[in-house]
Amino acid sequence: MSPGRPMTPTASPARLTVITGPSGVGKGTLVGRLLERHPTIWLSISATTRPARVGEEEGRHYFFLDRGSFEQQLASGGLLEWAEFAGNLYGTPRRPVEEQLEAGRPVLLEIELEGARQVRRNFPSATQLFVAPPSFAALEQRIRGRGTDNEAAISRRLARAQVELAASSEFDAVLVNDDLEVALLELEQLMGLPSLA
Ligand code: ADP
Ligand code: 5GP
Repeated sequence: MSPGRPMTPTASPARLTVITGPSGVGKGTLVGRLLERHPTIWLSISATTRPARVGEEEGRHYFFLDRGSFEQQLASGGLLEWAEFAGNLYGTPRRPVEEQLEAGRPVLLEIELEGARQVRRNFPSATQLFVAPPSFAALEQRIRGRGTDNEAAISRRLARAQVELAASSEFDAVLVNDDLEVALLELEQLMGLPSLA
C-alpha cells in the first residue's frame, strides 16, 4: 500500500456498490430514484471527456474534462478506475470515494464493464450489480427515446451493449429493469436497504 492511500478494500467491506449495465437500460433513472429515497447513499461523480448533454451540470452529473486534464489525473493516480466508452474517457476520482468510505457512508459507483472489472480486482468485497433490459429491442427504444445521442453514438452504444450483456454473469446479481418500481424495490433488497414502499 503506497503512502497517502490508507484505504484498504477490507476496511468497509459491504459499503461499496457498483452498478453496471448497458447504456440506456435505466441506471441513471434507477439511481436517481434510489438517492431520493436513501439520501445517506453517496453517489460518486465521475470525470469524463464526453461533452455535456443539455441539462447536465459540471460537478453534478460529471466533471467534464478535456483529454489532457483527464490523462493528467490518471497519470497522477487520481482515478480509482477508468475506461474508454464509445470514444470518450470516463473515470472515478479516487479521493472522494475513499473519504466517503472512511466516513462510513454507503458509496455507489455507476460505471461501465471495464471499470467494474477494475473495481472487482481492487475491492473484491464490493457488491457488483448488473442492470439488464427486458429485451434488446426495449434497450434500443430507451436509448432512442432518451433523445440525447446521435445515430453514430447510438450505434456505438448498442454494439457495446452486446458485450456488456454477455458479461452479466460476472456480477453478484442481475436486475432486470422492466417495471421501474419493481426494479427499484429489488435494488433496495440487493443493497440491503430498508424498503420505503
Ligand atoms: P442509463 O443511465 O442506463 O444510460 P437512463 O436512466 O438515461 O439510462 O434511461 C434511458 C431511458 O430509459 C430514459 O429515457 C428513461 O426515462 C427510460 N427508462 C428508464 N427506466 C425505464 C423503465 N423501467 N421502463 C421504461 N423506460 C425506462
Ligand atoms: P453516459 O455517456 O451515458 O453518461 O455514460 C456512458 C457509460 O459510461 C455508462 O455505461 C456509464 O455507466 C459509464 N460511466 C460513467 N462514469 C464512469 C466512470 O467513472 N467509469 C467508468 N468505467 N464508466 C463510467
